[in-house]
Amino acid sequence: MQTSHHNDTWRILIVDDDPEVHEVTRLSLGGARIQGRLLTLLHAESAAAAYQLLSSEADIAVVLLDVVMEHDDAGLQLVKIIRDELQLHDLRIILRTGQPGYAPEEQVIRDYDINDYKTKQELTHTQLMTTIIASVRSYEQLRTINQHRQGLQKIIAGSSNLMEDQSLQAFADGVITQISSLLGLCAEGMLCATTRNDSDQIDIGDAAGDVYILGAAGQYAWLNSRPLNELPDARCQTLIRQCLNDKQHLQLADETVLYFGREQYSAAIYLQTARSADTAENELIELFLNNISIAYQNVTLFQKLRRAAYADPLTRLANRNEFIRQLHNRTYAPDFQPVVVLLDLKNFSEINDGLGQDIGDELLRAVGERLLSTFSEDTSIARIDADVFGLIGDERALNPVSVLAAFDTPFQSGDQTLLISATLGIGHLKLLGESGMTRLKRAYIALNAAKRNLLGNYAYYVPKMEEDTQQRLVISRALRDALQDKALQVWYQPQFDLNSGIITGVEALLRWPQPDGDFIPPNVFIPIAEHSGAIVEIGSWVITQVSRDLSQLAHDGFAPLRVAINISMPQFRSPCFIADIVQALESCDLHPSQLELEITESVLMDEPDVVIKALLQLKQLGVTISIDDFGTGFSSLNYLRQLPLDRMKVDRSFVRDIDQPGGHLIIESILNLGQQLGLRTIAEGIETSEQEDFVRDHGCDEGQGFLYAQAMPYQALKKFIASQAQRRTAPLATTSPPENDFI
Ligand code: C2E
Ligand code: MG
Ligand code: MG
Repeated sequence: MQTSHHNDTWRILIVDDDPEVHEVTRLSLGGARIQGRLLTLLHAESAAAAYQLLSSEADIAVVLLDVVMEHDDAGLQLVKIIRDELQLHDLRIILRTGQPGYAPEEQVIRDYDINDYKTKQELTHTQLMTTIIASVRSYEQLRTINQHRQGLQKIIAGSSNLMEDQSLQAFADGVITQISSLLGLCAEGMLCATTRNDSDQIDIGDAAGDVYILGAAGQYAWLNSRPLNELPDARCQTLIRQCLNDKQHLQLADETVLYFGREQYSAAIYLQTARSADTAENELIELFLNNISIAYQNVTLFQKLRRAAYADPLTRLANRNEFIRQLHNRTYAPDFQPVVVLLDLKNFSEINDGLGQDIGDELLRAVGERLLSTFSEDTSIARIDADVFGLIGDERALNPVSVLAAFDTPFQSGDQTLLISATLGIGHLKLLGESGMTRLKRAYIALNAAKRNLLGNYAYYVPKMEEDTQQRLVISRALRDALQDKALQVWYQPQFDLNSGIITGVEALLRWPQPDGDFIPPNVFIPIAEHSGAIVEIGSWVITQVSRDLSQLAHDGFAPLRVAINISMPQFRSPCFIADIVQALESCDLHPSQLELEITESVLMDEPDVVIKALLQLKQLGVTISIDDFGTGFSSLNYLRQLPLDRMKVDRSFVRDIDQPGGHLIIESILNLGQQLGLRTIAEGIETSEQEDFVRDHGCDEGQGFLYAQAMPYQALKKFIASQAQRRTAPLATTSPPENDFI
């Protein structure tokens, strides 16, 4: 807010070189109110001091001005300065003089717009009040008139600019700019509109957002041309909808929502306003709204609104709303099996970030064109999200094979030739429910299932998916609570040197105890936390907790221990990840080599560049890196070579299958590969001494498994290590597992 209205009081300046006059005036005017407002008195004891004040203070309504001060006509000089130099034309001036003989010539009074001239004796309390009241009134009137004049000038200039605007967006942006300038505000707001053409109205429910943000400025600029329901501020959304529903302006403490509309449409202008508009401004706003509502009704603009509402400007395909409408209206004729396919471009954001948005946009257009040319007109094609396309058609034409075949040849995007792949969520319309929204929601459930599925790149909707989704939501919420209530625990599972039997380290494993004494397994809640992003916070807590436990261990006199922590992909994307680790190591006074990070192959392959960069940085710190569940992913040797790895963990499924036909060959070759790559090897899930013997005999360095110990809480771990230290003098009896009564 830039203007400095002093709306709550009238500001009166007293200029006089006699301190007593100030005192008397103060007594006389103190506590008086004009039109309900108190007076604020400002004081200056010379013309020079008054000049200073008038140049720096705004909104002074009246000056009570002594004529004789520094010199005989100092007051009159000041009047000239006020009008000519300072250009204060609304300010009312009352001249006062001690001696009747000093009356200024009539001409001065006329030329310089002086309200009144009185000798000090004449100005009794009542007279003074009367003069001040009259002056304040005329000040107020003048100000209103001037504001109106300026406002009208702006409206005339503004509306004619708006009429010329070719695009709906330019029009909408213009409206926000004009109205902000009318109110003396920085342009910060949105123009939202909805169509009211009943024959065309689509039944997509409230959630789909039939209200559009047609123009936006300031902090809202990014919302331009998007449905209102994408506005993250739910309260603000409600205000705008309320204004549109009630067809009434809303004036709140620091927001204003203005309504304008005709039969065919309703529109609302949302503005951040640190003060409420005064009467004069409100009149101007009404005038302005009237003006723009005519401009807005212009047929071309109206049609553009419709286009903005139902077409995707980038690809010229139908947009999400249109897609929902089509989904809603789709019926199935006999001999026709309609399916919905949602198609998500893999790694689109990397292309966008890496090669630039222009290339990204080109690519989206190219994909749109490819889809159009691949499928007949019977298939509807839309772009429903940044990198998600939606298709509706007959199952014979539209199936995983036919859709994915469209991605066999690369796309041309600028001067780049890009081979990309897609993930598909597919649903038979008859399984997807009745309304367009529900159908879309279920198709998305299938798409998300396909994304989670590492092996395939498509999934068909089955009702169980929705139950699972519900279940995941419940777990996801409970997990956040658990994190907040500090209900999660870190347990530790020891790892051993297979030749000496000595503990080499431990793996930190999360435990989520339930009130009934059970645990929700990490295999269930970690993927959910990864999906929801909660893993970033959880993972950071694990790092802190582990560091504390390690430092407590040192404090209790134990030799330094190596702890392996499992790291998920979203943690690598978090900007705080490395800083968290550095901070944990430093605050707990740990040596970086005590910390080992376990990453799985799928993490690595997800975004190799991000991961490799972070790993190189961590490696520099002195942290060691281990590749987990090795053999279950698809890492190429090429990537493995680029990584700063120290250890390879052979997945426990290979250990389990040693005695299966061919099983020992696989584990042998995995161990061999590890050795070739110069890595230390550790076998997970050793449960029998036969398994232990086998892996040791094939060169495996370390082992971890129930044969030795399960994961245990920190206190139990301390006892366990102490008991191991005693054992160390005798040969390790690996055939009988150490007592682990703590589990
Ligand atoms: P993982 O990293 O492969 O951890 C080893 C899993 O194998 C652990 O399961 C462990 O209890 C289990 N295990 C160890 N020895 C044996 C054995 O002899 N036989 C059998 N059958 N299982 C054994 P857990 O604790 O249920 O963890 C499962 C997965 O959850 C972990 O697999 C890891 O991927 C993930 N996870 C656990 N804690 C964390 C964490 O703090 N952060 C992240 N990102 N993931 C975690
Ligand atoms: Mg692990
Ligand atoms: Mg593992």
